[in-house]
Amino acid sequence: MKIIITSLLVVILSSAQAMDKTHILVITGGHTYEQESFRKMWDSFNELEVHYAEHPNANDLYALEKMKRIDVLVFYDMVQEITPDQKQALVNLLQTGKGMVFLHHSLASYQEWDHFFDIVGGRYLLKAQTLMNNSYPASTYQHDVNIPVNIVKKDHPITKGLQNWTLYDEGYGNIVVKPDVTVLLTTDHPASSRELVWCHKLYNARIVTIQPGHDHHAYEDKNYQKLLIQAIEWAKNSKTPSQ
Ligand SMILES: [Zn+2]
Repeated sequence: MKIIITSLLVVILSSAQAMDKTHILVITGGHTYEQESFRKMWDSFNELEVHYAEHPNANDLYALEKMKRIDVLVFYDMVQEITPDQKQALVNLLQTGKGMVFLHHSLASYQEWDHFFDIVGGRYLLKAQTLMNNSYPASTYQHDVNIPVNIVKKDHPITKGLQNWTLYDEGYGNIVVKPDVTVLLTTDHPASSRELVWCHKLYNARIVTIQPGHDHHAYEDKNYQKLLIQAIEWAKNSKTPSQ
């Protein structure tokens, strides 16, 4: 009898754990990346159920009925083409409280879509542009940089348990970040803009933008992984009051 009860308990526990998993959709395409080590990182996260989508078809998935199971959309793509209907579908997802996390080169997507700048809370400029009535030069990048990461919001759920550290990654310079976002991580490295990670709330959704994340050096960095998980968990809870 004891054995039966124990097995039953195991079944209940494991199904509860499966239900607890956060379902995310990772969107790639339009920019090269180290696919194998990227997938390996996602596979190592037991708390996540990871679904993948790739352009050119990914933009067709932003319909509410296709996103029912997804808690958070994670963008690791870099594309410019998007139809007016697809734009509206993406905004609809935010209105229903679907959390979003934007990683690295996704900061350079949809340069012609002004509202995407508001959604991400910043932009990597592929060429000189006018934003918020100011003229900005094109952004820059530099590979293989030891980036000192400073945690400026230590009491935030996204940075919980993290200490300042050095991340070997690509630095993005001259990116433009909106003044009304909450900046969580910064650097003073000259190859990078000051803002490394920020979050904000738009419509009913929580949005996190993580500037770093070029290759396996970031994917395998334990602090980067912790940051990513905590960003996803925070974005998932879009229905709770903003923090
Ligand atoms: Zn890169």
